[in-house]
Amino acid sequence: MLKRFFTYYRPHRGLFVLDFSCAVTSGLLELGFPIAVKVFIDTLLPTGQWGLIALASAGLLAIYILNAGLMATVTYWGHMLGINIETEMRAKAFDHLQKLSFGFFDNQKTGHLVARLTKDLEEIGEVAHHGPEDLFIAVMTLIGAFILMFSVNVKLALITALVVPLVAWLTTRYGGRMTRNWQALYGRVGDFNARIEENVGGIRVVQAFANEDHERRLFVRDNQSYRRTKLEAYRIMAASTSLSYLSMRLIQMTVMVAGSYFVITGELSAGGFIGFLLLVGVFFRPIEKINSVIETYPKGIAGFKRYASFLDTRPDIADRPGARDVGKLRGDIQYRDVHFGYAAGRDVLDGLNLTIQAGETVAFVGPSGAGKTTICSLLPRFYEVDSGSIAIDGIDIRNMTLRSLRGQIGIVQQDVFLFAGTIRENIAYGRLEATEAEIRDAARRARLDEVIASLPAGLDTLIGERGVKLSGGQKQRLAIARIFLKNPPILILDEATSALDTETERAIQQALAELSKGRTTLVIAHRLATIVNADRIAVIDRGVIVEQGDHQELLASDGMYRRLSEAQFG
Ligand code: ADP
Ligand code: MG
Repeated sequence: MLKRFFTYYRPHRGLFVLDFSCAVTSGLLELGFPIAVKVFIDTLLPTGQWGLIALASAGLLAIYILNAGLMATVTYWGHMLGINIETEMRAKAFDHLQKLSFGFFDNQKTGHLVARLTKDLEEIGEVAHHGPEDLFIAVMTLIGAFILMFSVNVKLALITALVVPLVAWLTTRYGGRMTRNWQALYGRVGDFNARIEENVGGIRVVQAFANEDHERRLFVRDNQSYRRTKLEAYRIMAASTSLSYLSMRLIQMTVMVAGSYFVITGELSAGGFIGFLLLVGVFFRPIEKINSVIETYPKGIAGFKRYASFLDTRPDIADRPGARDVGKLRGDIQYRDVHFGYAAGRDVLDGLNLTIQAGETVAFVGPSGAGKTTICSLLPRFYEVDSGSIAIDGIDIRNMTLRSLRGQIGIVQQDVFLFAGTIRENIAYGRLEATEAEIRDAARRARLDEVIASLPAGLDTLIGERGVKLSGGQKQRLAIARIFLKNPPILILDEATSALDTETERAIQQALAELSKGRTTLVIAHRLATIVNADRIAVIDRGVIVEQGDHQELLASDGMYRRLSEAQFG
């Protein structure tokens, strides 16, 4: 895991070396200071020469200024290193997110995914900067301070050394428990974000059912469980902070008492005594550093583990090796003995066979849950068939690149997703490089031009989250305009008009009729009136075609279609 973490440093080697060497130099200067004081007191002071003393002081000041510069470098460039790594990781994660299939998102909570790309990566960035540097300097300072202590007075150094294991034991003792606690905490944050997301998304339903109290109870439970986990983390932190403080002071007092004794017996000079005490101070700092690393490191590593496991989820639908880009296809479609289920063991499609000629319009009807949407979702490979095959123009869709396959298919659904932005941007989503004239033409053909003309800013009107709200029918026409721009040979209309009133529906029917002209069209309609003119109607029940033919034929055959039709037309 750590090795993988360090691969992210590779592009920033220069920055890392700069940061690291500045930090090391600064650490060495800090180490040298107590010795300078010792020399100052023991050697310079007794000479009584003011000139020399002033010179030495000026020298020290110069070193401090240098050190200040080094610290600024470490803080700025060091954090730049962290931020660069964080940015890169986030870009990689987002890129990966785009590749994951519908099946993945069906089973994910949005809150968890969002936390992964924001909070987790922030923690990782912190560790990326502070982790290696702090650890190295801490170890270097610890060892350096020790060697210097021995050089000042061996006995005093040995006495100090006796107390050190206590400190080491205390700091490591809490490390593991803190890691586990932070990990648990992040799980809670994810649950939490997911709960809020869901609540905001469903707030209209919550209020319509007046179920605010119920939601509050659910939320309070998560909120309290988060509080408990966090409190536990801080309880451990509190114990470890105060214990390490106490043990440090213990070292200091030991040195005070033993040092005084050695000064009185004449084994230690006054400068040596002060220098030693200062060294003990230098010795403390890395312990504090190690403590702070122990605090941030688990968070970063916990985050990195989640990040790595996210990157390791292989998209279950991806280009096969040797998949090729298909140019514009004609649109002959063939489903051959297709079996498919969303979960293992529960087949939604149970041996579906269906051939559609290029340019033909085939309508799917049947009870809700029969598998109509599923049939259409398999064509752009949103989900992968379990067995059997689907081919377009005789080419298995699994041998096409996803990009070129999906470029052949336009989909209009009941729910239209609008991105926050202008109408122009939302139409242009169909083909990002479309020109102004093409966008206007698409809008006109989708019968959207009158709507646009009536809006204050026309095509530049903001829609979506904070802009103008479009009605269901207007959204539908916007979706149609997108497809006009995309201009694919195959069209899927999944209950595109089901949510509309009959008046609007007629306008949209005209737009749809124009859209499907010359394209192979798969249409799912709840209302049979909208599909009576289809070239062929396939009645789907429990994942297989139970009847097919045109409207008249199916009515004559006295089967499921006839029953459905009688239920709707009376
Ligand atoms: P239809 O469009 O004919 O109403 P669907 O194709 O949407 O039916 O659904 C067929 C079956 O598959 C239903 O039992 C439905 O519950 C199930 N199903 C649909 N989508 C998913 C999904 N994303 N995950 C799991 N099961 C699903
Ligand atoms: Mg459906």
